[in-house]
Amino acid sequence: MENILHSPINITYIILVVIALIALILTYRGYKKKCTDCEKWGAMRERSRRIGATGEKSNYSGDTSLDVIYEVHRKCKHCGYEDDVIRKKGEWF
Ligand SMILES: [Zn+2]
Repeated sequence: MENILHSPINITYIILVVIALIALILTYRGYKKKCTDCEKWGAMRERSRRIGATGEKSNYSGDTSLDVIYEVHRKCKHCGYEDDVIRKKGEWF
């Protein structure tokens, strides 16, 4: 009886948390692509990227891997403002 009474509340809670997380991710992505000139969110579009630097890094277990840095050239889809940002390989936004 207890479970039947509580399950709709739990489902609502889980849905709210998921929606909040999605909203947070979308807001963060929009912020990362914010144009510094016209201040519109999610406006910057990637035009090109080139490898800026690579360096060997090692973790605590002694394994080494290549750390690849990209220089991303972006352009605002609203005002045409262009900039360059540094992105690490593996960043998904
Ligand atoms: Zn702009």
